[in-house]
Amino acid sequence: MTKHAAGSRKRQRPRGATVAAVLGVAIALGALGYATVVSVPSLASSARSESGLTDTGGLSAADGVIPGTVSIFNETYAGITHLKPDMLASLRKAAKAAGDEGIEIDVTSGWRSKAYQQKLFNQGIKEYGSEQAAAQWVARPGTSIHEAGDAVDVSGSGAQAWLVQNGRLYGLCQMYANEPWHFEWRPAAIESGCPEIYTNPGQDPRLAQ
Ligand SMILES: [Zn+2]
Repeated sequence: MTKHAAGSRKRQRPRGATVAAVLGVAIALGALGYATVVSVPSLASSARSESGLTDTGGLSAADGVIPGTVSIFNETYAGITHLKPDMLASLRKAAKAAGDEGIEIDVTSGWRSKAYQQKLFNQGIKEYGSEQAAAQWVARPGTSIHEAGDAVDVSGSGAQAWLVQNGRLYGLCQMYANEPWHFEWRPAAIESGCPEIYTNPGQDPRLAQ
């Protein structure tokens, strides 16, 4: 029931289909005896998320790669466990409160290694045509708040809307208008509210070279 909560429709469905397809391929490869470290394509890519790697070759879960989405309560993936401890605790508190309202908070990307961010950025350059255009969507390697363990990308519009509404109470803020899935750890927000959001990451002085 929680999975199909109102609001999570449009983006979720194609993504679910991709997940199924990719799992199918993974299972087929497994059956053929291929090594299990076959790249796990990010399933969020079709949703044009800044966390969506289409090719994770050379990266692994140790870089923060999450196959599809995982619960914020996951204890296995570095993408979750390497988040700042205070942020993770607060996120889990928020997820419990959201859960009481029937909304599940899952994550497509949390902590990332620099190699992961570099790969994302390279992919962005290919996709958007230039470094400058890519920087509107993807932080430059070495500057991403994900690398610091202070950001998560949340799956599903229901969870995103819930966090936009209530995240502040947990020190979690949306930062970019064009990234409704991206939330950062801003403990001061609990007292004084979230900062004004930027149109896109290209406007964020923290992400300049
Ligand atoms: Zn993000």
